[in-house]
Amino acid sequence: MSRVAFVGSECYPFVKTGGLGDVMYALPRALVREGTEVRVILPLYGCMKQKYKDMLTWKGSFMMDLTQDGHSFFVGIMELEQDGVTYDFIDNREFFDWGNPYTGLWEDIPKYIFFSKAALAVLNYLEWIPDVVHCHDWQASLTPVYLRTRFAGTPVGSARSILTIHNLRFQGICSLDHLKYWSGLPEELFDYPVFKVNDSEANMFKGGLAYADRVTTVSETYAQEIQTDFYGEGLNSHLWYHRAKLRGIVNGIDVEQWDSRTDSLLPVPYGREDVLEKKWKNKLELQRRLGLQEDAGKFVLGLVSRLTDQKGLDLVDGVFQQMLDENTQVVVLGTGDPRYENAFRYYENTYRGQVSACIMYDESLAHLIYAGADALMVPSLFEPCGLTQLIAMRYGTVPIVRETGGLKDTVEPFNEYTGEGNGFTFDQYWADLLLDAVRRARRVFTEDRPRWDLVVQRDMEKDVSWTHSARQYLELYDELKALG
Ligand code: ADP
Repeated sequence: MSRVAFVGSECYPFVKTGGLGDVMYALPRALVREGTEVRVILPLYGCMKQKYKDMLTWKGSFMMDLTQDGHSFFVGIMELEQDGVTYDFIDNREFFDWGNPYTGLWEDIPKYIFFSKAALAVLNYLEWIPDVVHCHDWQASLTPVYLRTRFAGTPVGSARSILTIHNLRFQGICSLDHLKYWSGLPEELFDYPVFKVNDSEANMFKGGLAYADRVTTVSETYAQEIQTDFYGEGLNSHLWYHRAKLRGIVNGIDVEQWDSRTDSLLPVPYGREDVLEKKWKNKLELQRRLGLQEDAGKFVLGLVSRLTDQKGLDLVDGVFQQMLDENTQVVVLGTGDPRYENAFRYYENTYRGQVSACIMYDESLAHLIYAGADALMVPSLFEPCGLTQLIAMRYGTVPIVRETGGLKDTVEPFNEYTGEGNGFTFDQYWADLLLDAVRRARRVFTEDRPRWDLVVQRDMEKDVSWTHSARQYLELYDELKALG
């Protein structure tokens, strides 16, 4: 049996801004089911809901030195156990009382340097020594570095480390001096190219990737893509150099959290066996709630997404009006770049009753869209894994995706000759190809409903759970344990 400590900046239901939060929730639970002991270490953010804060128990506190000039900071530990997973929240109001939970890089860098170090100090303090410290994204990327330097001679120093890339776009880049000051890492580390972007800038993620014993990312295709110029975000050569320790393991979703049979947020829950009789009732409720024309015969296209360039929204914007016909409705749920927020508001105003733009973050509306839409668009420019297409499939909503990263690995293109496949896909990043994919999907929906229904049922049968991938992580943990 392995002991694994997860270190990451967000975790559903305490705080979530995207897929990382889902993975930090679902993967530990899947690992516990396989017999692993898991602790999840998180910041105790001021923005966390009071109801969760009230559930925590105080486990102790200490002062930890951090900066180059030996400045010390308070580290409090608040704990919660849920479904076999132990959550340790690191309390320090100076760092974590601001933001939602992120602020801006200038403040986030000291905050996550502190967090990366405190995570290891907490494990020593609790005398809970893991076999593997599993770190997530740039916010936890200094943990593998501290493990091999400042913590090398301490109990936790015996652990191995994994750094998982959920999104390479965000890297924690700052001036070398800023990183040197806040991290208090040995001066000689900065003589090497490990952290350096150039003579004056440092990259935290780059350093973590070099120091981790293994690097994983969240799909096999993304693991290959990030070694190329287009997807590598400036770190492609670095990742290519470290390719022997790089692996792609596709994400799953928590199938209890996302279960259309038991989902209390749906007016009419349904399963694979009665999806054809019941799913449309959720569509009517969605239309009613959003002020769209109530008609189960309409083709409802959903979009649940952060509204950023990554998500391919310039393609959606480019062909939006062509995508609409009298039989089509579009529902957008998301927040982000004002350029896209305003574009979707404009379409809602222009096409009243046909388009709804919900510029907000709303878990319960997301559930209703996954259940009520016929198809979900995910036309991303790049997509490390993508969870929305997995959730959509689980709810019998057909994904329309670009063939990149995890979208390519999880959605099999519909073949109009054989009827095989579980979604509609396109390859090049061209708006016309998105439009073509939407039209192909709509044609099957309106002209060949029996075939469409088979795709819906096939989607619901697909195994999108964590079981298979959790076992791949277990093999990786065993591999690291064998290294001693
Ligand atoms: P990313 O991590 O790049 O944002 P993912 O597809 O991996 O994308 O994960 C997105 C997660 O966030 C999904 O669980 C999705 O349902 C959720 N989500 C995104 N935007 C919203 C929103 N506006 N309201 C509710 N949930 C959202």
